[in-house]
Amino acid sequence: MNIVLMGLPGAGKGTQAERITDTFRIPHISTGDMFRAAAKEGTSLGLEAKRYMDEGQLVPDRVTIGIVRERLGKDDCARGFLLDGFPRTVPQAEALNESLEVMGRHLQHVIYIRVEQDELLKRLTGRRICRDCGATYHNVSAPPKEEGICDRCGGSLYQREDDSEETVGKRLKVNLEQTQALLDYYRSQGNLREIDGNQPIEYVTDAILRILRSTVS
Ligand code: ADP
Ligand code: AMP
Repeated sequence: MNIVLMGLPGAGKGTQAERITDTFRIPHISTGDMFRAAAKEGTSLGLEAKRYMDEGQLVPDRVTIGIVRERLGKDDCARGFLLDGFPRTVPQAEALNESLEVMGRHLQHVIYIRVEQDELLKRLTGRRICRDCGATYHNVSAPPKEEGICDRCGGSLYQREDDSEETVGKRLKVNLEQTQALLDYYRSQGNLREIDGNQPIEYVTDAILRILRSTVS
């Protein structure tokens, strides 16, 4: 089960990815999470990526493609994987196809979670994340039981630096520019499915699971 979950920043990829990967027991591979972890560790890759992330720009393809190639070669991807936030450009999508071909594999599902711009702005600026387990909340639509504290592990919640109002606008613009071409690319490959992501979290999960289950058994 090799899945790509697409959507503009704030569409709900991370939220849905957690649920899907729990259900199918496949790794959740988020390039954003990988870059943030590398930046925290202070590796040269992390520091390079951070420069772009702080500006709301995309990390260059050569860097991004390299880390994904390496990650897909790990043992835990043998039964499948869910990519969240990759590919974001057509060259990344082409590189992914090539890598999978070499491995004798292909993408079964490319799912695009479509959400309106105004809603994306609200989602990104209200997003809060657990410092310890990475669980995602929203201060209006998905608040924790106790303010600032993770329901799951008791960790403290924080706001991503790039979720500031200033950077969010830039991120949406940069991603919009790339997304249309990427959607056209996958449409031409014939495996793109679109979901209405303006609906509540559970509704979106059900819609995705229906698609995945319809072709799994
Ligand atoms: P992405 O990974 O696509 O950037 P996230 O999964 O982090 O997006 O979701 C962005 C924000 O929107 C989070 O605060 C999350 O709690 C909230 N969110 C996700 N899905 C929905 C939804 N269907 N309805 C309302 N809020 C949502
Ligand atoms: P995300 O967590 O998916 O919102 O990604 C956070 C940031 O990481 C983005 O704004 C980019 O700077 C960088 N990033 C994540 N995935 C990619 C990608 N596939 N290509 C380029 N940059 C990426």
